[in-house]
Amino acid sequence: MKDLNYKNKSLNFSKLDIEDVANKHKTPFFLYSEEILSHNYTSFYNGAKDSGLIDPLICFALKSNPNKELIKILAKLGSGADIVSGGELKRALEAGIPANKIVFSGVGKTEEEIIFALKLPGKGINSFNVESLEELELINACAKKLKKIARICFRLNPVVRPKTHKHISTGNKTHKFGLLEKEVLMNLGKSAYWSHSQLVGLSVHIGSQLLDLKATKKAVQRLCEVGLKTQAPLEFLDVGGGLGVDYHPDETKKLPSIDTYMKLIASTLDKHFYKKTDLRPRVVFEPGRRIVAKAGIFVMKVLRNKVSEDNHFVIVDGGMNDFMRPSLYDAFHDIIPVKESKAKHECHIVGPICETTDCFGSNRLLPALKSGDLLILKDTGAYGYSMGSNYNLRGRPLELLIDTKKKLRVINKAQDYLDLT
Ligand SMILES: *Cc1c(COP(=O)(O)O)cnc(C)c1O
Repeated sequence: MKDLNYKNKSLNFSKLDIEDVANKHKTPFFLYSEEILSHNYTSFYNGAKDSGLIDPLICFALKSNPNKELIKILAKLGSGADIVSGGELKRALEAGIPANKIVFSGVGKTEEEIIFALKLPGKGINSFNVESLEELELINACAKKLKKIARICFRLNPVVRPKTHKHISTGNKTHKFGLLEKEVLMNLGKSAYWSHSQLVGLSVHIGSQLLDLKATKKAVQRLCEVGLKTQAPLEFLDVGGGLGVDYHPDETKKLPSIDTYMKLIASTLDKHFYKKTDLRPRVVFEPGRRIVAKAGIFVMKVLRNKVSEDNHFVIVDGGMNDFMRPSLYDAFHDIIPVKESKAKHECHIVGPICETTDCFGSNRLLPALKSGDLLILKDTGAYGYSMGSNYNLRGRPLELLIDTKKKLRVINKAQDYLDLT
């Protein structure tokens, strides 16, 4: 990755020397790049435009990284938001994302959260992406009380099986997400659902870290077919998020480019929807990982070494409470030293948490490391800080941003464990 390279044997990220940053700030920390974030958003949006899609709306999935300063950057570029809680709704609005660019997903929206969204001025949010009929009934009842019309999008369960980790797959009957076609079609007239609600869109989201787009194509085709069958004047078709990134070098050749992805979406919509109707709904996307994963790294310090016969452990000051993906999904993240060195030997990089799964990488080839040496975990901008916790009563780590002028800014202070209550 050109955003990470050695200069005079010292690793730079987004043109800033990481060791310099670590000399000024306590490890571990997340370090983000405004330049990469903006570039990723802009290429996604431009890709959609260039493939001929009508007025595309990119709703960044806040759950992948809800840091307010990062959301502000995306808001200024025109991004919308895909949110899954009242907290994320508040965050998106505070960061400057207009309500009419917000889609509200999630199977467990509470009455309080629904009312919060309905009470927003004007037409409110772009849509409630509804996952069950009971949810729709509640939204309609709340809208009635508030004398509002709720904008509804059904999330379709397209019954497809993408090739991804089972814990991040969402588009099949065995998953709690979305509504089956027959449930969508059989309930388009009932007044308990629709007296104060209006169907404005249809969505799918089949999972995350997708590298093979066969299931995506099928899901978008299902979206089109069911969309036509509703005979509703849909304002948008929401193709969800999920486009993957190359965490492992083996994934690089499989990785679909933005261009390939957008062409597939555009041609599928064209063939199965636009060619069959005069309706011209816009396309909504809900990317998270693809926008922010590569815009962040996690910087940690070696505490000490430990040898158990054949096993060489390098114990670092970052742990699974800071970055969960390896322990939660067995996810691979590349680990590289901040000081360039050719010497390599095999070791396990482990954190301080009292869990065997607190391991960032097994059998990695790294130079000999000693206390105080710096390592980075790559591609940690998505599902990093946002999934973190205070497990083992550790304070949450610092978040830093390199802005477009190469200036370093604290965008979220570290939590001191002595302040935890
Ligand atoms: C998590 C999620 C996304 C974003 O997924 P990525 O893999 O980060 O692109 C989009 N839409 C919904 C409904 C989600 O739950």
